This record gives sequence, structure tokens and C-alpha cells, in this order.
Amino acid sequence: MRALIKESSEENLKLKEVGFNPSLGPHDVLVHVRRASICGSDVHIYKWEEWIRSRMKLPRIIGHEYTGEVVKTGELVTRVKEGDLVASETHIPCGHCYQCLTGRMHVCKNMKILGFDIDGAFADYVVVPEVVLWKLSEGIEPEYASVMEPLGNAVHTALVTNLSGKTVLITGAGPIGLMAIEVARVSGASFIIVSEVKDYRIKLAKEIGADVVVNPLEEDLVKRVMKETNGEGVDVFLEMSGKQSALIEGLRSLTNGGVASLLGIFEGDITLNLDDLVIFKGITVYGITGRKMFETWRIVDQLLKRKKLDLSKIITHVLDFEEWEKGFELMVKGECGKVVLRIND
Ligand code: NAD
Ligand code: ZN
Repeated sequence: MRALIKESSEENLKLKEVGFNPSLGPHDVLVHVRRASICGSDVHIYKWEEWIRSRMKLPRIIGHEYTGEVVKTGELVTRVKEGDLVASETHIPCGHCYQCLTGRMHVCKNMKILGFDIDGAFADYVVVPEVVLWKLSEGIEPEYASVMEPLGNAVHTALVTNLSGKTVLITGAGPIGLMAIEVARVSGASFIIVSEVKDYRIKLAKEIGADVVVNPLEEDLVKRVMKETNGEGVDVFLEMSGKQSALIEGLRSLTNGGVASLLGIFEGDITLNLDDLVIFKGITVYGITGRKMFETWRIVDQLLKRKKLDLSKIITHVLDFEEWEKGFELMVKGECGKVVLRIND
């Protein structure tokens, strides 16, 4: 089968034919991949950044945001059957730690990651344990199904609190920040302010429905937020850039007693004035990892099945599998929203 593989530290990612003779464990499922989308973390592997080198065992087929059709199931699999269309969690929980046993699989202590710890979905076929699969409702387009995983990040982050009538600040309009604009909009947010530094994404954020988009390199974000909110600050702050300056601007822009929900991953330790920005403001801060399994998936599935979310402007590119490198380069430059690869029809 074809697979996008990182074979060794010295070689770049390659799309090539690889031998594939899967032996399914009793709880495993073989999925024929139809669409797969490129995640920021795939781009870190593409660039072969320092922190990944020591953590990732090679060779490895990468990719973890995908949808496909079940073609074979292990003998003890009960939740899906041949012919089912599925999307999938990236996070593979162990099923026996404290968190897994107490209904919090998404923060499993022994979490494995698809396309990182086991072979992933930029391939004609992928083998996964049934616990990660989500059976799709009818009527969800394959392009949309392939981005349910990052969309779940946006939903999980944005819906920690009721957004109805609230003013919302989103820092970072990468693919997930863009999705969060759409989620906040359909959830009844009254006013959405976005900060972003790349021109392409500033334009996209406006088109998707942000009321105000600020480039913090050119304009003081906090001043602008205060101007737009009569000096009150926003009710809800969603951090989706992973940049310290954006985190601090967001916390400063938040009204006393407000809610901050943090998804962005920071490169190292960060420094901030906890007294002034969190404690004396009396805010609530949520740390977000992945998606709730499967509460978040249910919400994402319903929103897509009922056509409540419009991802047509957010998925900016649907490319053939062979054009994978073009997709990765667009991601590197930030000249895209979400990029989907057409693996099989
Ligand atoms: P991305 O890197 O594509 O998007 C980040 C965006 O922030 C980019 O468009 C960038 O131009 C913009 N940005 C950079 N500096 C900025 C600044 N100072 N102010 C405002 N915007 C700025 O990433 P993504 O795929 O959209 O994901 C968003 C974040 O969430 C990333 O940090 C990613 O690592 C993280 N993430 C976390 C989880 C989790 O489970 N916690 C899962 C997926 C992604
Ligand atoms: Zn566990």
C-alpha cells in the first residue's frame, strides 16, 4: 500500500509503497482511509524539529486526522462492523489507569498517539484499536469527517462555558482558531474578536465571521478589546496560538470573573504575573487536551450531521495524496486554513 513514511532521521518524509500484511489483534480494526488532514504536529515531523527527534521511533507512517471505511475487525470487536464509515481519536487510552477507569480517558496517563507511537493514517490502510473509533452519522461529507479531530479541539476549548450572548476573544487563527470562530458564532457569541499575525489568516478569520480581527504586531490588542467592550474586557478568552505574548494579552483583555480556556501549546516555560492576571481577577482557567471521549465527538457529529457548522471556507485545500508536499508547504507558510488529502474515494 502507499504510505507517507519517515524512515530514518537522515531521510525526509516519503510517499512510497510499503509492505502491508496486517495481523489484527482481537480488539483491532482495519480501516481503508478515504481522507486525511494535515495537523500542525505532522508539520513538526516534516521539519524534523529537535524535540521530536529524541521522542519518535522510526520508521513510522505518520498522520492521525482521518476518516475511512471499516474493512475488517478483530474477533472481539463489537462497536463497529465491515462497511461502517468512521472517524477516529488520535489519543489511544490504556483502559486501565485511574483516569480511564473514572470516565476521563482523554487524560489517560499511558496515552499512545496515532501516527507517532503507532503507524498512522497517511496510508491506504490503518490498523487501530476499536476504542478510538467514532461511527459517523449519515450525511457527513468525507472532507468534514476527516477534520472532526481538530474540530473537536475547537469545540472542547470553546464550550467549557456557555457562549450565548458572550463576548469572546480568540488568539491565533490557525486551522483550530478558525474553527473556534465558527463554533463560537453558532453557539450564540454576541461579539468575536480574533488576533492573528499572518495576512492570509487575518483575511480568512474576517470571512468566517469574526467581528474584529487585530494584528497584535501592528495594533495594541488589549486597547482594542477595551474599546470594543466599553472598557469591560471580554467574557471568554480562547488561547489558540501557543505564544506567550498572546496568552498575556488575552488574560489582560479578560473581564474580572471571566473564563480562559487554553489549547495552544507553548514552546517552553512562560512567565506571567499570576496575581494580577489570574488571582485578583478571579478568573477560571481551563487547560484543554484533546477531546472528551466521546462527549466532544457526539457534539461535533451532531453539528456536522445537522449542517450547523460551515467548514467550506475553513478547509481551503483538498489535494490528491501525491500532492502531500504542497500541502505541508502551505502549512509551513500559513497560507491555508485546513488542508485535506484525498487518499481514496
Ligand atoms: P497553528 O500553529 O497553525 O496556529 C497558530 C496560529 O497563531 C497561527 O496562524 C499563527 O500565525 C498565530 N499566531 C502566532 N503568533 C501569534 C500572536 N502573537 N498572536 C496571535 N496569533 C498568533 O496551530 P493550530 O493547529 O491551529 O493549533 C492551535 C494551537 O493549539 C497550537 O499551539 C497547537 O500546538 C495547539 N494544539 C493543542 C492541542 C491540545 O490538545 N492541547 C491539540 C492540537 C493543537
Ligand atoms: Zn489510561
